[in-house]
Amino acid sequence: MDEKIQKLYQECIQELENIGIKITNNIDIGQIEIKLSKRNNKRYGACKQLEPDKTTRYIEKTKRRKIVKYWKYNKHIIEISPWVMELQDKVIKNTIIHELIHCMPNCNDHGEIFKKYAKYINQNLGYDISRVRK
Ligand SMILES: [Zn+2]
Repeated sequence: MDEKIQKLYQECIQELENIGIKITNNIDIGQIEIKLSKRNNKRYGACKQLEPDKTTRYIEKTKRRKIVKYWKYNKHIIEISPWVMELQDKVIKNTIIHELIHCMPNCNDHGEIFKKYAKYINQNLGYDISRVRK
């Protein structure tokens, strides 16, 4: 199963590079690890952001409090839920690419930049990446 994840992950990386989105050896992205999630919850996947670039610190204000965030992280761990691996390759790759977008600077949420990448990828590679997945 781990082999399958790695294989599909490499395919995603290659497809993104083909349309000009460089994932590996990109100092704006840093290091990415992908693995099967230990939990089999409802989520398709998740992306943990580690090693924040301290120079990109900003404060997000909500009604009640201020949250420290960073635009850029240097390490990312993508986890894919085991049940997703039973689905079609295209769906698994859709999930992987969704999480890969979260690895890019300014894409920790599903804001404008995330949407821009998603739209570009959908148009050029025929995926269906959206903010939320059904
Ligand atoms: Zn997301």
